[in-house]
Amino acid sequence: MGALIIIFESGQSSFDQSHDFLKIPNQFPKIATNGEEYSYYNLSIIFDDSTSSVQGNLTVNFFNNDPKNFSKIPFHIFLSGMAYEYRMGYIDILSVTKLEAPYTSLIYDEYSNNQTMWVHLDTKLEPSQNVSFMILFNSTIPDGGLDRANSHGSDPNRIYKFASFYPLPCVYDEFDGWNTDPYLSIGDPFYYDIAYYNLFIEAPSDYIIAATGKLIKKVNKGANIFYHFDPIYPVREVTFSASKGFIIESTLVNGVNVSTYYLPKSQFVWQITALNYGEQALTLFNETFGEYPYPTFNIVEEYTPFGGMEYPCQVYITEEVDDWGSYSDQQFYLENTIVHETGHQWWYNLVGNDEVDWGFLDEGLTCWSTDYYGEIIHGDWEYFQYPPYPLRPPYIDEVRTHHANKGNPSKINSSVYECIDRGMNYYYIAYRKTPLILEKLRNTIGNSNFIAGLKQLFEEKKYKIALLSDLHLIMESVYGSSLDWFFLPWFDNDFLPKYNFLECNYYVSQSILKLTINDLNEPLNAYNYSQQVQLQISDSGGSIIYNEWVWINRTTTFNISLTSKPLKVRLEYGNEVIAQLPSASPTYIEAMVGEINGLIPGYNINIMLIFCLLPLIYLISKTLLGYKKKSKI
Ligand SMILES: [Zn+2]
Repeated sequence: MGALIIIFESGQSSFDQSHDFLKIPNQFPKIATNGEEYSYYNLSIIFDDSTSSVQGNLTVNFFNNDPKNFSKIPFHIFLSGMAYEYRMGYIDILSVTKLEAPYTSLIYDEYSNNQTMWVHLDTKLEPSQNVSFMILFNSTIPDGGLDRANSHGSDPNRIYKFASFYPLPCVYDEFDGWNTDPYLSIGDPFYYDIAYYNLFIEAPSDYIIAATGKLIKKVNKGANIFYHFDPIYPVREVTFSASKGFIIESTLVNGVNVSTYYLPKSQFVWQITALNYGEQALTLFNETFGEYPYPTFNIVEEYTPFGGMEYPCQVYITEEVDDWGSYSDQQFYLENTIVHETGHQWWYNLVGNDEVDWGFLDEGLTCWSTDYYGEIIHGDWEYFQYPPYPLRPPYIDEVRTHHANKGNPSKINSSVYECIDRGMNYYYIAYRKTPLILEKLRNTIGNSNFIAGLKQLFEEKKYKIALLSDLHLIMESVYGSSLDWFFLPWFDNDFLPKYNFLECNYYVSQSILKLTINDLNEPLNAYNYSQQVQLQISDSGGSIIYNEWVWINRTTTFNISLTSKPLKVRLEYGNEVIAQLPSASPTYIEAMVGEINGLIPGYNINIMLIFCLLPLIYLISKTLLGYKKKSKI
């Protein structure tokens, strides 16, 4: 195969153009725009199955959307960071050249420690200006291995999965400058600006190709087939997968061609149902958050140890589902994973975020969305939180017992690096604690406000990058009041509240129970929690003589009049209260009531003040009002 050249300006090329069928679109024929300017990429590759590799050509038209001049631009070349079995993956940069004659070479540096390459520009790139150049490269995906890109299995169940397989432009932001993080084994290190793409693939004709975007053109060239895919609307990256065995099912959902690509070995699990799950998820999220604008959505089987992986317009679902329990268990996992990865089309692709610094944001929103699907489709928000295999507790039980079991902090608003440095469990924070706190927010501000907030987040941040502060501000705007008291403790504290009965005495002569509750974790946290907890008081006969939802804000004292003598007080957490517990059950803390014959210290003085001062204040105010009234006349 010769060098592969496709340029997006109609200029001449000094390279081999023997593949005349590759001389496709001379421009980016985009029909979709929202008035914003984005970068444009044309990615052309020739796939060689015998070496699990591609020859590639990325033509870059980089738009500087930052208020800063640049003299060089970094790209991720992630493949060498991925796991492999026999041969590691790598991206070999062959050349970087300008697009216009005389096709000058540009200098580039490569750094293997963080898998980046920097292209040195020959002119200064100013804000809102574009620069164009072409990168020729060869990519080999890891052989064996079960990472995000791999070739794995044997025909007809062999898959070549190409993800993060080309130079991907890094993002510049006000927090980090250029984000040149290496491939990480914890979380997803993916952070990209949205851009227009054309994807051109030449592949042996006995392969079935699943790729990001609508199939615009397919040219049969004998031994090879040439494809042109176009997502039409901007995306953050592109991917493709090739297999000789893929079975395809498709349906049209609200104008979107939804397709499943699965292996013959998995037909008994995937057929009909996988497509239904994708259709239901796409329909629900369209209605709930806002419209998925792309013409295609592919759900593609893959080899990985994790459940699945999201890419724009194309998601991957692990073939391991085949081996998980009974048919109904397999369907549970298939549905759960498809719904989750579909949710990422809204929270990761359309609304982007820095997955290293705010990875919990798109994962948390996606997990919450998956549970919302459980609520709407299966009638239970916790439906997917009771997996049959392997068994694990629902979020609420895991979160309430996390600190007791693990002892280490779990501040949600943490980067992946902070999690590693402080011994925090990123997966627990992003996939378990964050969706539970989002659900608590829904219960706090009401379902319609919460859904309206998510809709607004989607509308405002579609094609952009969102921060936790955006979610915070938008939820405040729909709620109509500050939510600092909610967001700051729940997202920025290291530990949950750990309530404790500091005092619990019944003053017999006054028939008053004095109850003081404090939070033993308060000294460990930056912000104070406020939440409502169910307070139950029972007598010696076991009857509940008091049952109210009370607010606990820091150390809180209650003086409760009780005609019958209380025996026990209980803070019942039920399924709502988020507080530290030693074990999932019981879901309450309890104390025996002490008995005191004297008077409540300070309490009687207050009573006296009320009895003496109130009439006095009343008399004074009446006099003043009378005076005011008179003066008006
Ligand atoms: Zn996810």
